[in-house]
Amino acid sequence: MRCAQRISPVCRRHAARAALRRAQLTLARMTTAAIAILIALLFISPAVAQAPEPEARSFRGYIESLRPLALARGVASETFDRALASVAYDVEVARLSRRQPEYGRPVGDYLNAMVAPSRIGGGQKRLAEHRGLLDDIEKTFGVPREVIVAIWGIETSFGANQGGKRVIPSLATLAFHNYKGDFARDELLTALRILQDGHIPPERMIGSWAGAMGQPQFIPSSFMRWAVDFDGDGRRDLWTSVPDVLASIANYLRAHGWQRELPWGFEVIVPEHFDPRKSRGSFREWVTLGFKRADGGNLPTSNVRDGAILFFPSGARGPAFLVTKNFDVIKTYNISDVYALAVLHLADRLRGRPPFAGRWPDGDVQLSREDRMRIQAALAERGFSPSNRQGMIDFDLRDDIRKMQVQFGMTPDGHPTPEFLGRLVGR
Ligand code: CA
Repeated sequence: MRCAQRISPVCRRHAARAALRRAQLTLARMTTAAIAILIALLFISPAVAQAPEPEARSFRGYIESLRPLALARGVASETFDRALASVAYDVEVARLSRRQPEYGRPVGDYLNAMVAPSRIGGGQKRLAEHRGLLDDIEKTFGVPREVIVAIWGIETSFGANQGGKRVIPSLATLAFHNYKGDFARDELLTALRILQDGHIPPERMIGSWAGAMGQPQFIPSSFMRWAVDFDGDGRRDLWTSVPDVLASIANYLRAHGWQRELPWGFEVIVPEHFDPRKSRGSFREWVTLGFKRADGGNLPTSNVRDGAILFFPSGARGPAFLVTKNFDVIKTYNISDVYALAVLHLADRLRGRPPFAGRWPDGDVQLSREDRMRIQAALAERGFSPSNRQGMIDFDLRDDIRKMQVQFGMTPDGHPTPEFLGRLVGR
């Protein structure tokens, strides 16, 4: 029946029946779609299911697009498939990689946390437990056992906390987001080669969200170059073999220039009326100027060829240090000055040396990376030549800061602060 006029009761009933039929049909279609979605969700992993839909879809395509480059770099097709066929996008890794850390912690708080009594105790226990092994490693690589154990303790609490993330999904997620340019992609392809060589099964290849692996937190490219099979089982196992872990840390430091007989540095007492514009000199010179070790020992004068740099980690109000090239070697493991200070101070505490004598000033926080980059950019604009623009502070940059501090009438201690940045950018 055709109803031109819907006002009649017959036509109204007809229209109501038609609407009901349409509704039933729509419901049936919706149910079919819902079941299809449910089935689809059952077959993909939870991590992908949580990812925003477009990312999860294009993630698979991205992974597949890496195959030619992987093959060109010596990864076999079977390795590629075994490691990546079911690799899941990790939402948490993506979130952590986008995190913008604000201002760092106060230097004193960071050092107290890193060199806590529990870590000193843990280190002493490991030194005793692995004495014979550390004898061999010290002899082979020329790096003091306390420094090796200190890095092990600070990186992963002696292997207890390796990060809990599977390395392949983490690096695949970071590579998909083009994390640090090609960095994550290249590390992912290198990780595939480590799997291919049989050093570790994929499910036990554990590390941090950023791909730092195992007990010493080596990224895959560091593993390739510096990991060592010290227990002689044919595998370089940085996850479960303590001999491999400790020898690899030692090998890394030796390869980056650790000098066997060179002390890393000392906390010092700065003589009164000293002009802190001077930042470099031989230990002999520093002694002549009236510098003394804070723990009462003697500064070396005869057996150290290279000089020492005067370093105020928290500015001239805080503790002062004279540091050598071995301090910079620790910074190749992690670029932060306070990381290096934490490792080397923990090593000293493991040797039975006392805590820092100086007091860390209240309210001194480490600048954010963004602010450190702003300082580098502003110094470059004023004609200085920073070694990098990524916010990594080295002693040359601290010397540049000293020069500007003189111009601003500030204490020239080379320590970047929010006040210094304000003056530099004209706030
Ligand atoms: Ca081994």
